[in-house]
Amino acid sequence: MAKVSIESLDVSGKRVLVRVDFNVPLLTGPDESKSVSDDTRIRAALPTLDSIVSRGGSAVLLSHLGRPKGIADPELSLEPVAAHLSGLTRTNVSFCPESVGPQTVNAAHQLQPGSILLLENTRFQPGEEANDAELASFWASLSDFFVNDAFGSSHRAHASTEGVARVSSTAAMGLLIQKEIEYLSQLLPQPEQDLKRPFVAIIGGAKVSDKMGMIKSLLSSVDYLLIGGAMAYTFLRAQSIETGDSLVEQDRIDLAAELLQTAQDQIALPSDHVIASEFQNDSPSRVVSQDIPEGFLGLDIGPETIDAYQNRIRSAGTVIWNGPMGVFEMPNFARGTVAMAEALTEATASGALTIVGGGDSVAAITRAGLESQVSHVSTGGGAMLEFLEGKTLPGIATLTDAV
Ligand code: ADP
Ligand code: MG
Repeated sequence: MAKVSIESLDVSGKRVLVRVDFNVPLLTGPDESKSVSDDTRIRAALPTLDSIVSRGGSAVLLSHLGRPKGIADPELSLEPVAAHLSGLTRTNVSFCPESVGPQTVNAAHQLQPGSILLLENTRFQPGEEANDAELASFWASLSDFFVNDAFGSSHRAHASTEGVARVSSTAAMGLLIQKEIEYLSQLLPQPEQDLKRPFVAIIGGAKVSDKMGMIKSLLSSVDYLLIGGAMAYTFLRAQSIETGDSLVEQDRIDLAAELLQTAQDQIALPSDHVIASEFQNDSPSRVVSQDIPEGFLGLDIGPETIDAYQNRIRSAGTVIWNGPMGVFEMPNFARGTVAMAEALTEATASGALTIVGGGDSVAAITRAGLESQVSHVSTGGGAMLEFLEGKTLPGIATLTDAV
């Protein structure tokens, strides 16, 4: 069901409560002051904020930061984030050191049209993660409209996502959520869909268990599923290939074997590996095909696998990539991951729809400086996985239906 968009709301002279995802990494300086070290998520909210203030509305922002578990923790205050946001926009940005209570009500009521107020970390409130109805009603009472633009938090039914949407008379999607849905829904199986084929999924990362749901769901629509990263070793074990000391999830080997049996024409596994004896960047490495000897771990896909995977990606019509191909944080084991990022940009240039998602995958493509050369970089980690699994995201489902 399509949802009401921020664009269709008459926000002029109105106060809009916006749930954003400002869960950004902070750096502590020598003088103990904190600053934002990666502002990707803050920038992602700017189109929605601009849409409100440029039309004469004002915005009250809610976000979580980290995991303070219902207790105020000065280390996780959003104050440095407010300062950073202020530097990114010409709009007047203020910060309220509380998210609940009379001070919050005052700050919201004093807000001038065309300005922004960021409230303190929602997770300082025990009712946030418990999806407390009273807390949600308090937040809803601060404004005329509610807008959810925190795609990365929409898979959680918290007071600032699902709760506040439920009790707001009008709850709309922000422009970021709208864009995420527009891109990601193209990957969902739909009867009338004309997806550009071949549809290739590249799935890597640390754990099979995190991604099994998405893999199963993707297998119903992809032409090829290219597996890399640590999760490949669980699949290789399922084929009785020796994986040495590589990361293997013993309790998922049977499931991997089952998938390989039912989808053997779709699934590709690495045919060679970069191995080392230590989980360290400077550990001497070499390339092996097939079995990984005892005392060694696979830390990246090998050159033959890179070639095969790149060829599949270059000739694809649609590509989704989630999960690094190796321990990309160590430069000596980043080659496979960077090679996938490069192939994706080539596919994009030849007209393919290319989507990258997942915290570490996005970090990897950003580090390679290629993030602007793919069709869409998703801001959702867990939320994207659940969306692609076909699950309903509570923070989106509760929004007002478009008529
Ligand atoms: P994403 O956040 O993109 O969804 P994941 O969180 O699933 O990705 O996985 C990323 C992690 O997987 C990275 O920290 C990376 O170092 C690790 N990883 C990838 N390949 C290997 C490997 N062969 N051995 C150990 N860890 C790996
Ligand atoms: Mg991750």
